[in-house]
Amino acid sequence: MVSSPSLVRIRSHRASAPLPARQTAPVKFNRKARLDSSEVSTRRGGAATVGGGLGIIGVLAVLAVQLLGGGGSDLGDALSALDGVQAGGAQEAPLEGCETGADAIERQDCRIVAYVNSIQDHWGANIEGYQPATTNFFSGSVTTDGCGSATSAVGPFYCPADAEVYIDLGFFDVLEERFGGSGGDFAEAYVLAHEYGHHVQNLLGTSVTDRSSGPQSDAVRQELQADCYAGVWANRATTTPDPATGEVLILELTETDISEALDSAAAIGDDRIQEAATGAVTPETWTHGSAEQRQRWFLTGYESGDAGACDTFAAADL
Ligand SMILES: [Zn+2]
Repeated sequence: MVSSPSLVRIRSHRASAPLPARQTAPVKFNRKARLDSSEVSTRRGGAATVGGGLGIIGVLAVLAVQLLGGGGSDLGDALSALDGVQAGGAQEAPLEGCETGADAIERQDCRIVAYVNSIQDHWGANIEGYQPATTNFFSGSVTTDGCGSATSAVGPFYCPADAEVYIDLGFFDVLEERFGGSGGDFAEAYVLAHEYGHHVQNLLGTSVTDRSSGPQSDAVRQELQADCYAGVWANRATTTPDPATGEVLILELTETDISEALDSAAAIGDDRIQEAATGAVTPETWTHGSAEQRQRWFLTGYESGDAGACDTFAAADL
């Protein structure tokens, strides 16, 4: 069992307490550690052409894509943008120039590679038969292999059908500017770790097919479990070695790092998104859980470091 270094202090501001204003700080990467950029791919092109599409792409997105956040209006924007749009010609290319932890300190895209590597090193060591999932960077819109097409407006997502993660890195600016997150490097880590939580669910066969909404719905339970899995990785991040070299990628996580994750989790809570969009909170339409729930389940994973603590499906009190 690995203990988390700042466990006691984190407990002192429970998720329900108002979070103080805070600064952000860079994550302390191991400069010498190797990055494996083969776990990340870039998808360019995809020149979207307006045509006589049938709008079915959006339906696919709703049925088959697991989004980072709820927020009906955002999803609606993304889907209506796709109505009549056909994207084509997307090209995959490897990411270049991300070789070591030093690159992760310098470049955002390399930083994401480092998170993806660390997250997958952790799950690879803890799930028998773990199969790595590629994270695809895109800009504007993307044609996925298994989930149709999507625009950046849907936010980062995991596609169960092709078992890959898709993210427009511009999302992190949106998270700060539009959703009021405080940002920071570890906010990014949380987002990636949440998406890989869905990959773990997919591998374990715990993905749900019933995406009906509501505060106790299976959809919400699945999203909160992904938040919890993100917390489990955060607990282990500084002790997870690269199996090829034995080096850890992240040397230290501070209270500030964890606060950045918590702040992001709150910023994309269904209640926060709804209140910002319409001024009203309607729990019956929740698909991801409230700000308080998302923080609490991330902390459940972080404090325990145990994926077994993440059984949101059995939880009487979500
Ligand atoms: Zn999700």
